[in-house]
Amino acid sequence: MAIAIGAVMTDHIVAGRLEDQRLTGQPIRDPEDAAVLDALSAMPCRELVERLAGHIAALVDATAGADAIGVAVPGIVRHGVIEDSPNLPQLKGMHLAEDLAHALAAHGVAAPVHVANDADAIAAGVAATHGQMNKLVRVWTIGNGIGYGRWPYVEGVWEGGHITVSLDPKERYCGCGGVGHLEGIVGYRAMRMRFLDMEPEEIFANAKKGDERCREFADLWHRALAAATASFIHLAGPGRFYFTGHNVRFLDLPLLRSHLESMVRMSPLQSFSLEVLPPDDVTALLGAGVSAVRALAR
Ligand SMILES: [Zn+2]
Repeated sequence: MAIAIGAVMTDHIVAGRLEDQRLTGQPIRDPEDAAVLDALSAMPCRELVERLAGHIAALVDATAGADAIGVAVPGIVRHGVIEDSPNLPQLKGMHLAEDLAHALAAHGVAAPVHVANDADAIAAGVAATHGQMNKLVRVWTIGNGIGYGRWPYVEGVWEGGHITVSLDPKERYCGCGGVGHLEGIVGYRAMRMRFLDMEPEEIFANAKKGDERCREFADLWHRALAAATASFIHLAGPGRFYFTGHNVRFLDLPLLRSHLESMVRMSPLQSFSLEVLPPDDVTALLGAGVSAVRALAR
């Protein structure tokens, strides 16, 4: 039986203990109160690692131990190093796997640490819970930023949120500064910058009421997401796409599908499926743990 601890660090930390790809017991959440937003964005790296190590150590059973520790974080993650993380900027350049292993050693925990991108971890978690470990699973996470995850993991950057979906030079709202990016249209922060006079929630509500400017934008929002998805279909083939994250509430799946159908016309590529997953930390936590156990075998 493989025992893993899975953890997710986004604007909060969630950690849980897994036995053979199943969550056992109640996960730990920090901060406990879900109403406290953005608790981690100003926290120094050292403190983040200490807190993470403390929560993980608390979940390790003293006698059973743990075979692997998996941590999911937003950003570009390669070989345990966080190369960039726009929404937790203090993590940039951090050797998280190494630093966390050191911090865990101080708690008497010696299991190997594996760090994954949070969207990749969700894809792994979806694959594990849907019994699709041998199939290609792709996930869009729609939040402040836009994440793209896939299972099985393949070496690469995979910053799908920054794929170019517009040639309009005025499309410059992406958090990375790049022109024409998906996140610059679909991301929450980008929407706030575009509509200085209303919040994204109001934009989508007004679009439903028939406001022309809002309706046009809601359509652009769906076309942008369809364009990025179509690009991945043209590169890696059709298959399953999942949509999740805090702002998946803005997604109108039939509208997305109709745009996607207009963009993907080659018949062997039209067998794609689209599914909304309500956002939940457990899928990412599970995926982080599953990825860590799989990484042991590599
Ligand atoms: Zn960008």
